[in-house]
Amino acid sequence: MTLLPGATIGVLGGGQLGRMMAVVARQMGYRIVVLDPSPRCPTAQVADGFVVGALDDLDAARHLARQADVITLDTEHVPADLLDELAAIAPVRPGASVLRTIQDRLVQKQFLDRIGLPQAAWAPAGDLDELTAALTRLGRPAILKIRRAGYDGKGQVRIDPVDRAGPETPQAEDPARSHSDHDPAAQLARLHGQPAVVEEVVRFEREVSVILARSLDGAHRIYPVAENVHRRHILHTTRAPAPMPEPQRRRAEEIAVTVADALGHVGVMAVEMFQLADGRLLVNEIAPRTHNSGHYTYGACATSQFEQHVRAICGLALGDPRALSGAVMVNLIGDLWAGGPPGWQHVLAHPGARLHLYGKDAPAPGRKMGHVVLLDDDTDRALADADALIATLTPRT
Ligand code: AMP
Repeated sequence: MTLLPGATIGVLGGGQLGRMMAVVARQMGYRIVVLDPSPRCPTAQVADGFVVGALDDLDAARHLARQADVITLDTEHVPADLLDELAAIAPVRPGASVLRTIQDRLVQKQFLDRIGLPQAAWAPAGDLDELTAALTRLGRPAILKIRRAGYDGKGQVRIDPVDRAGPETPQAEDPARSHSDHDPAAQLARLHGQPAVVEEVVRFEREVSVILARSLDGAHRIYPVAENVHRRHILHTTRAPAPMPEPQRRRAEEIAVTVADALGHVGVMAVEMFQLADGRLLVNEIAPRTHNSGHYTYGACATSQFEQHVRAICGLALGDPRALSGAVMVNLIGDLWAGGPPGWQHVLAHPGARLHLYGKDAPAPGRKMGHVVLLDDDTDRALADADALIATLTPRT
């Protein structure tokens, strides 16, 4: 059934993704209710209604569902069993089965193997014996990642070759976020015994992501493939379109469509990939929701990823994903607030720059506080402008 404007969308989790979707949904005439532990969360600030509660609080989630015509997610870290319960009250899109496959890295990797998509060599690392055996097979350096609830490099540690460990390795520069060491036992201990998987470290040429939408009847709309640069495991910049050869671009799209169809996904999703020097693409991670590397679509494309998600979950026809301009997105991380709120005058004075702030009142190192999108068909120039604008915000030490 098609849900027309006037219907109410319930959102589980009140972060920036929910906020940006809520702004667009309300502009289209939908109502938004959100469940989050904090009444000051980014989505609640722009919503019609709010339910206070943790994302695993079934009573609170049921209270939200009874007010909603359809339920969607700001984060994949919602218990899948809870989604099954809510589905008896209102449709949940994407559904519990999608989350079951995605939210556990081990299950996600098994799924990718099963549907025949390439990924970095990996192995389960439930305990030291399993990890030691895996390292013999995968070699070093390797990355150990917790199976559940990790994001932005949290819950990830690197295992170095024995002769390369130590504070000079790049990952050791911020010990609070990412640790580098050659001792597997010490690295497992850093993850506090949480079940993990281990992967080979991929020497990629570039990282790319494909954002696409899949509708209730299985139609797709694919956004221009984006190139992503991470700093300390957090997305730093996205450039779209990615400067990649046509056959690889088509292959990236094909991979993303294969994932979406195999999952039976409904809504927007992102597939992050590593592109190797020989042109091969390896899937790194799947996100069953709007994605940070798709923020550029809000401004650069005929239909933003946020409107597209609303269209997909409400059973409307999907919108036109075409880019009207080249674009660069640069994230604004909490570190920029170290000397107090940054001065935005240079960003706001740039004619091609659009500032988005998420309304978070507690800036912290590594926390995503906002982003800037620069519209420019010359994406090299836009990247240089992004760097120059960020430099005007950087606290002086
Ligand atoms: P993830 O949370 O798994 O997406 O990891 C965040 C970032 O860490 C990725 O976008 C990469 O920049 C880096 N990374 C993660 N896994 C690997 C890997 N196996 N090889 C090389 N870099 C990786």
